[in-house]
Amino acid sequence: MLELTDQELFRYDRQITLRDFDIDKQQILKNSSALIIGLGGLGCAASLYLAASGLGKLTLVDFDTISKSNLNRQILYTESFINQYKVEVAKEALTNINANTLIETVNQRLDDNKLISLIKQHDIVIDCTDNLVTREQINRCCFQVKKTLVSGAVIRMEGLLSVFTYQPNEPCYHCLSRLFGKDQLTCVETGVMAPLVGMFGSMQALEAIKVLTQYGKPLIGRVLMIDTMTMEFSQVKFTKQPNCPVCGNGNTNQVSQ
Ligand SMILES: [Zn+2]
Repeated sequence: MLELTDQELFRYDRQITLRDFDIDKQQILKNSSALIIGLGGLGCAASLYLAASGLGKLTLVDFDTISKSNLNRQILYTESFINQYKVEVAKEALTNINANTLIETVNQRLDDNKLISLIKQHDIVIDCTDNLVTREQINRCCFQVKKTLVSGAVIRMEGLLSVFTYQPNEPCYHCLSRLFGKDQLTCVETGVMAPLVGMFGSMQALEAIKVLTQYGKPLIGRVLMIDTMTMEFSQVKFTKQPNCPVCGNGNTNQVSQ
């Protein structure tokens, strides 16, 4: 395990000072890696906080380029980077924030095989994508290799957050998403409020840190729902669905949905 340098001990002092977090857990972060899929609003906030917090390695996945309509909420990008690949610009911005974090980039769409091979190389996966098809794909692939997934989703003035560790009796993302129906809209169609995206990206980073360092109680088997129109926070417990096509009894690992 890589030891923290004196410079790093100083840099992360406010985290190390946290009760029961200490140098040991900061050192775990230095030796941990996260796969961040989607470098939009959620991914910008999540990657920014994970790099600043001292995570050892981040791999950024996104095939998109920056457009002007991204700039209200995708806080790693500025006007001068329009039309450039998001992952390349994000890599430079994150390296400027913390050069101790190794940043790797993937700017292509991934099929299941490529995604699984990438997932296996990381300690945790953070889903920052904006559509249901990709979220279901990430869940399916994480389930196959039992890699913890931190999932966040935002729309209009509302957001959802949950964590999946795929232990035998725990639900998967599909057990949750089926409760919300198939025709979920995206923020392209409905709009989304910028600071809300930052809130959820930050909370995804926080849950990832908690899972990696076994600190606190992550949102496993629970979904946090926030309606920022009224600032109502609620939590709902949900359970594994026995007939879930991904994690249920009849699962064949070859689900095509
Ligand atoms: Zn399931």
